Amino acid sequence: MTHSESLFEQAQKYIPGGVNSPVRAFRGVGGTPIFFKHAQGAYLYDEDDKRYIDYIGSWGPMILGHSDQRIKDALHAQVDLGVGYGAPTTLETDMARKVCELVPSIDMVRMVNSGTEATMSAIRLARGYTGRDKVVKFEGCYHGHVDSLLVKAGSGALTLGVPNSPGIPASLAEHTLTLGFNDIDGVRELFREMGDEVAAIIVEPVAGNMNCIPPAPGFLECLREVCDEHGTVLIFDEVMSGFRVSLGGAQELYGVTPDLTALGKVIGGGLPVGAFGGKREIMEYISPLGPVYQAGTLSGNPLAMCAGLTTLNAISEPGFHDNLTQKTMTLRDGFKAAADEAGIPLTVQGAGAMFGLFFTDEPSVTRFDQVMNCDTERFGKFFQGMLAEGIYLAPSAFEAGFTSAALTDEDIAETIEAAKKVMATL
Ligand code: PMP
Repeated sequence: MTHSESLFEQAQKYIPGGVNSPVRAFRGVGGTPIFFKHAQGAYLYDEDDKRYIDYIGSWGPMILGHSDQRIKDALHAQVDLGVGYGAPTTLETDMARKVCELVPSIDMVRMVNSGTEATMSAIRLARGYTGRDKVVKFEGCYHGHVDSLLVKAGSGALTLGVPNSPGIPASLAEHTLTLGFNDIDGVRELFREMGDEVAAIIVEPVAGNMNCIPPAPGFLECLREVCDEHGTVLIFDEVMSGFRVSLGGAQELYGVTPDLTALGKVIGGGLPVGAFGGKREIMEYISPLGPVYQAGTLSGNPLAMCAGLTTLNAISEPGFHDNLTQKTMTLRDGFKAAADEAGIPLTVQGAGAMFGLFFTDEPSVTRFDQVMNCDTERFGKFFQGMLAEGIYLAPSAFEAGFTSAALTDEDIAETIEAAKKVMATL
């Protein structure tokens, strides 16, 4: 028995499923989740001291790699000053200014403690601002475990086969309208019929919770257009893509400007942080300026702001995203070449420092139903093989992979060699 196996047995006695977030339980790929002891740079070390090259990065935040010295220094200094006051600090203004600089569609921003809080608050704000109830989302997109948005959701909701969770009143879910991701005709048709009743469209501009699907040409532009025509608020959920697919997020990469943006992951540098922001006119509807209530005991926590701001400053260095995207392309090409060599059908997609591996014959995957037709069994075997080789990929065929600046060329070469070896066994 490995240490992880016995530790998982203990965990399951006291924690539902042994985990504090479902995808960590390895349900989609089988086997036992790995318990980690420490992490440095691109590497994770488990309780048996086995080293893994990490392509999850704590599910996105660790874009600099683990235990970055700059973040550790900032955190140590702040711990000496106090871990939280529940009152304003200059750190919060510095953070807000930085976010507004990096994401030009954001005039004002409110900090929260998770991506879920960010999307939940953005939806409430859009409903309050427009005086409408209906929200449009896309099948396979995941926006956190917000009641209104756990309808046809991705991520763990897909892996565990519960796309519609019990516990959500039908009277609430009925206000959520779901369309196919990249389905431009579907969007136009729905808005022709009932556009004036729709408070918001919320979308992951790069879908990362049903593997990784970039927007089809014209899709985001179409969303912008129908929102303008009908007075609907366009919300980009950039919790995953923000500061990762480019410095200014997917909105910079694809040149489409939302009204509100939800942020998380990278913005907290590994601490629990989310944020939502956007047009001043809309953000002024938030309390205490406006009537839409939103609050948080720990929001803007100084430790969290330190880790986040240090990360945002580090990724603002010239060339950071070009380098990281280049590394990610090398990795993507390597996975594809390894599969070709073994005669395994594989499609590799991505955007910036996000990537996805699809075990399918389809040359490109743009729709949810194509994702669902991929060979998840083969993915599971590939995942387990890579894990044995010391490569830590997301334990689900429905999650995007993430790269970090700490990955060296040697790490990527080692990963590709491992992929060749494992592909040959499939
Ligand atoms: N939106 C997106 C696009 C996400 O990927 C996630 C989490 N993976 C969330 C929202 C929810 O964030 P959190 O888990 O921090 O609540």
